[in-house]
Amino acid sequence: MTTEIRLNGRVYRLPRRPTVVICVDGFDPAYLEHGIAAGILPTFARLRDDGFVGTADAVVPTFTNPNNASIVTGAPPAVHGISGNYYLDRATGKEVMVTDAHLLRSETILGLASQAGVKTAAITAKDKLRKMLGYHLDGVAFSAQEADACSLAENGIADAEALVGRPKPSMYSPDLSLFVLDAGVALLERGAATLLYLSLSDLIQHGHAPGEPASNDFHRAIDTRLARLIALGAVVGVTADHGMNDKARPDGSPNVVFLEDDLNARFGAGAVRVICPIADPFVRHHGALGSFVRVYDKAPVGIEALKAAIAALPGIELVLDGPAAAERFEMPPDREADIVVIATRNVALGATRGEHDLSGIDGHRLRSHGGLSEQRVPFVVSTRLSPAYQTIARQRRLRNFDIFDFVLNGVD
Ligand SMILES: [Zn+2]
Repeated sequence: MTTEIRLNGRVYRLPRRPTVVICVDGFDPAYLEHGIAAGILPTFARLRDDGFVGTADAVVPTFTNPNNASIVTGAPPAVHGISGNYYLDRATGKEVMVTDAHLLRSETILGLASQAGVKTAAITAKDKLRKMLGYHLDGVAFSAQEADACSLAENGIADAEALVGRPKPSMYSPDLSLFVLDAGVALLERGAATLLYLSLSDLIQHGHAPGEPASNDFHRAIDTRLARLIALGAVVGVTADHGMNDKARPDGSPNVVFLEDDLNARFGAGAVRVICPIADPFVRHHGALGSFVRVYDKAPVGIEALKAAIAALPGIELVLDGPAAAERFEMPPDREADIVVIATRNVALGATRGEHDLSGIDGHRLRSHGGLSEQRVPFVVSTRLSPAYQTIARQRRLRNFDIFDFVLNGVD
């Protein structure tokens, strides 16, 4: 009987008791700090004594797909190949949404564990992540978004709605995430899974700052499910794919630099193409505006001239050519753009005004992510760490993709 798996230079002990990793999408450390201080997150608060509550760095770009891929492979994007939600395929010139595993260059911890005989489940709020998280996974893999369309052949479960005991929620409901957690609880109650990855949606965090009633309610509901998973005997690790910051002006309007408009106004129509890798099928809450974009020099204008023009714009934190960006942020160099641009904490980057539908963010301030300002995320383990892992946690810069290592190897 296999007792461990190996992936990307790490060895993982297979779980001897139920083990759950939760990726709370958009869980900025500010939500955790506020929630603990305000008494909204009693379980998280208790884990400061009974487990481990710290922070870690997410991978850049601080978007959902690259970070979920890193968490389930235990490796940076240079290894697994996913450096955006949306990308320009240089070979075809086509712009492509990442909705399956075809760009993935690594096996996953979940897939290998399932093949080693561990009852494994990957449950995600949005279906766009399901195929990637379920890559080579011989077990349960489904999304809350399509919980009504599961089959034994495709998802390893035919009755996801019956499992949870309610119909699938609306795509734009916070219950989409709670449904994922409730499915995890139900699988543990049934004894139907030993290793679980539960990946939520950041709908609430995009719309609501820490302390607002909607975000308080949502994070309290997460805390309740965390308590339930622990009560069922699970070791639970909680981290996030990225943080979240306010990107609105004092008057409430979105604070956006439309980079493709600006650069084409200066260098000529069609001179550059700007790709916003935050784009996904759920753009209503952020208008596909994040703080990291990729620039393709089509004219060509020349990289140095473009970099200088971009650096002179307001709200720009960092401009790097593609190879330098790939090196610094451990991204796959062959999939990198000519130039990478990162905005400052309270600024978002767009392509052209016409491409971004801002109607969905009417009524709330733009909140988003993608840059360096959203790299810090919570890193929580529900059980006290072994002495060796306490030392690691003290001495090393933790990454969110260390979480499976910690829950599988770091507790006795
Ligand atoms: Zn996310």
